[in-house]
Amino acid sequence: MTDLFSYNKITAEIAEEIRKKIGANNVSTDEEKLESYSHDEVPQSNYGRKYIAELLVFPESTQHVSEIMKIAHDERIPVTPRGAGTGLSSGALPVFGGIVMSFEKMNRIIELDEDNLTITVEPGVVTAEISRMASRHDLLYAGDPCSGDASFIGGNIAENAGGNKVIKYGATGAQLLALEAVLADGSVTWFGGKRRKDVTGLDFVHLMAGSEGILAVITKAVLKLLPLPRHSVDLLAAFPDARSAINFVPRIVTEGGLIPASVEFMDDKALKLVEKYLNASVPAGDAGAALIIQLEGNDEERLEEQFEAIGKLSQRHGAYEVYVADTRSTKERIWQARKGVPEALSAFYSRYTKEDLVVPTASVPKLLEMLRGETEPYGLEYITYGHAGDGNMHCTIVCPECDNWHDRLHAAQQRIYAKLIKMGGTLSGEHGIGYKRRGYMKFFLDDAQIELIKRVKLAFDPQNILNPGKLVDWGK
Ligand SMILES: Cc1cc2nc3c(=O)[nH]c(=O)nc-3n(C[C@H](O)[C@H](O)[C@H](O)COP(=O)(O)OP(=O)(O)OC[C@H]3O[C@@H](n4cnc5c(N)ncnc54)[C@H](O)[C@@H]3O)c2cc1C
Repeated sequence: MTDLFSYNKITAEIAEEIRKKIGANNVSTDEEKLESYSHDEVPQSNYGRKYIAELLVFPESTQHVSEIMKIAHDERIPVTPRGAGTGLSSGALPVFGGIVMSFEKMNRIIELDEDNLTITVEPGVVTAEISRMASRHDLLYAGDPCSGDASFIGGNIAENAGGNKVIKYGATGAQLLALEAVLADGSVTWFGGKRRKDVTGLDFVHLMAGSEGILAVITKAVLKLLPLPRHSVDLLAAFPDARSAINFVPRIVTEGGLIPASVEFMDDKALKLVEKYLNASVPAGDAGAALIIQLEGNDEERLEEQFEAIGKLSQRHGAYEVYVADTRSTKERIWQARKGVPEALSAFYSRYTKEDLVVPTASVPKLLEMLRGETEPYGLEYITYGHAGDGNMHCTIVCPECDNWHDRLHAAQQRIYAKLIKMGGTLSGEHGIGYKRRGYMKFFLDDAQIELIKRVKLAFDPQNILNPGKLVDWGK
């Protein structure tokens, strides 16, 4: 059997053939460009080396993608699809060199269909652009990752990105009706359609959501739209500590009797760090922890009653101050604080790992307790923020001063993951596995399931050229 990970280098002839098919202006071998397109938001220092592609391609159409894949397939060249490179799992890292395929030139919104409540887009459209286009038609695209001003929809689909509104609307996969895909041999197919129901064949649409670029290349997507809620209000509740904030989260549903659009959490360290990063005070900046609760509705009076009731409820459960943001500028101020946390972490720490742990929502308080117990013995610190409404906590482990960072981190991670499994939790809620977390998959999935993933991968891509080495540990 041929080695699944033995690839050919890109020769001058192969590069020339690609130029002829897609145009010389859509191909680059510029060293600086190759370097900047050869990583995502995970620091390269994590791996002690750099992984650099040999050739960058910028297809402008499905036809271009298909031509590139045909050549890569015939010549056995690895291809790494790349969105905006905001990924947090090294999904777009060209581990075996070869081609990085950027979708920045496939950035058209093809159609907004008001009768069928769908929007059809190319993979390089920036997520926020889809929301803006929908809202111009009084419609809502419900995908809302915090990186939405930069990330591409193709990257969101490949990661099944979550974000701020999962509690009410689900992750990116829940917004997905259909995809055009280019398979590893260059053939083009459609999975799904504008239909709201479809059991004709296997559900490849949702297999593609979260497939991290290892199965096929997404070249178009049809997304669901909803009526745009006419009004929304954001509450920021300041709590004395993380425990009281987290304990309040399920009360919003059980006692408040409603499903909010978002429930986001920041601990005291996250609040302080973001103030330092923004060089400005943020609401509840001195709190022990804060929750952002977003409520939406069409009836303004009813919404007002609801936010007043939730505000009072939060105070009965320990909140000592509640800020109400109902104008664009007050809302922006609140969300700037929450969305600034990941950027602040990258700005102030050179050694960190952003964990993406997820537990059943009722176990979040236990998760926070456990993190303290399992990081302190290794001299590590952690900062926690994230999507409290759906149990997905972005605990970022840092160690500003310590030696043996990798050893300490690895030892703490082993203990954290063992306890996480006992809580019914898992490794990643939305950032994906990619190259970064592949080594830990064996803790969470049994051998039978890991083998199945490998077989599915090779059924789609027998030559193993699409984003190889990701998702599970292939021993390479
Ligand atoms: C500040 C910040 C905040 C973030 N907040 C969130 C959040 O709230 N929720 C969340 O889920 N994530 C979040 N992320 C992570 C990241 O933004 C998401 O994973 C996002 O979906 C990645 O999109 P991208 O376009 O940057 O993809 P990239 O990072 O470029 O690629 C991600 C993966 O998608 C694959 N891919 C890209 N395009 C295609 C395609 N057309 N066909 C097939 N495969 C493809 C790549 O091969 C790779 O495996 C955040 C990141 C940052 C830096």
